[in-house]
Amino acid sequence: MEKIAVLVEHRQDEVRDITFEMLGKAHQLVGEGGEVIALFLGDPSQKGLLDAITPHAHRVIAYLDTNLKNFEPLRYQAAFSQIFENVDCQLILMGQTAFGMDLAPAVAAKWEIPFTSDVVDIEASDGDLMAIRQMYSGKVNAKVSLKAGDKRLLTVRAGAFPAEDIPTVSGEVQEITGAVEGDFSARTFVEYLEAAVGDVDITQADIIVSVGRGIKDADNIPIAEELANALGGVVACSRPVADKKWLPKERQVGTSGKTVKPKVYIALGISGAFQHQAGMKNAGTIIAVNKDPKAPIFGIAHYGIVDDLFKVVPALTEKVKGIKG
Ligand SMILES: Cc1cc2nc3c(=O)[nH]c(=O)nc-3n(C[C@H](O)[C@H](O)[C@H](O)COP(=O)(O)OP(=O)(O)OC[C@H]3O[C@@H](n4cnc5c(N)ncnc54)[C@H](O)[C@@H]3O)c2cc1C
Repeated sequence: MEKIAVLVEHRQDEVRDITFEMLGKAHQLVGEGGEVIALFLGDPSQKGLLDAITPHAHRVIAYLDTNLKNFEPLRYQAAFSQIFENVDCQLILMGQTAFGMDLAPAVAAKWEIPFTSDVVDIEASDGDLMAIRQMYSGKVNAKVSLKAGDKRLLTVRAGAFPAEDIPTVSGEVQEITGAVEGDFSARTFVEYLEAAVGDVDITQADIIVSVGRGIKDADNIPIAEELANALGGVVACSRPVADKKWLPKERQVGTSGKTVKPKVYIALGISGAFQHQAGMKNAGTIIAVNKDPKAPIFGIAHYGIVDDLFKVVPALTEKVKGIKG
């Protein structure tokens, strides 16, 4: 694969990590002599964001329009259409994020190009392109072959590729002053709302004891709380636990909850669906307790205990209390 374009994702005047993750993978796929092209849609006042991009792309195409400061699906679709035909590449990468999930299908449908979503890996050789995506909550990886064509489009799952150690090249910026026209009033940006922090800010915790559906009942949460207290940590949860209101929503970890990066993350009765993993996989040490040895959480855990949490957790708590005196 010789030329790959990456759509830069930014929010609240910050380039999001997914952009660097895609740039890194694009460099790996094109190899020496290939070209990585960054596509930027934004307001002229956001040109400063390009400083973070240009060192990692051979070419940056920046479509600047005063109405593109914040992501609006219909306006962004129209803006993307303005540059689509002029971008000479075999593959376009977008993030599997609220931004990319909205934009990519519309682009693929409009230009009738092969498209695969939520990709966790990409293999390319001699023009053949294989996208790897997960099925059955991460228990199975499927290989999807994309029909060769002028361009192909993938959305890439956040965290699938490292955002660090991206090759440095000197990118040349090609600015296009745009003014997309049309009626975009059906869906417009209103404001960003910060999620409530709640009584405990799990994003700041060094130690998190997190409970999943395996905890079975709200009455059993104190078992986890006791372990968290013994360790000096806090209790968090997977989505079903928050949905059942066993713990407040602010304690939920994952794509529709919080992203955490504690030193230690103890997952109790959590299967490890990718939506959960996305919020905690960068924890320093992950310890999982689960009855099912095939639970996907064991795929990212540094230590795993295959057993009943109702047996393991009280024993662990006693041990910790004993050590701490
Ligand atoms: C758009 C979208 C967004 C989502 N966002 C999130 C999100 O932000 N965060 C999130 O967590 N999920 C999210 N989900 C849901 C996600 O797909 C999973 O359904 C969810 O993470 C599963 O939660 P769980 O692991 O607690 O439950 P389950 O998948 O039911 O797993 C329970 C686990 O407990 C184990 N277990 C049962 N009893 C015991 C026992 N006694 N001892 C030990 N182990 C036991 C089982 O083996 C099982 O692995 C989202 C889904 C969608 C579609």
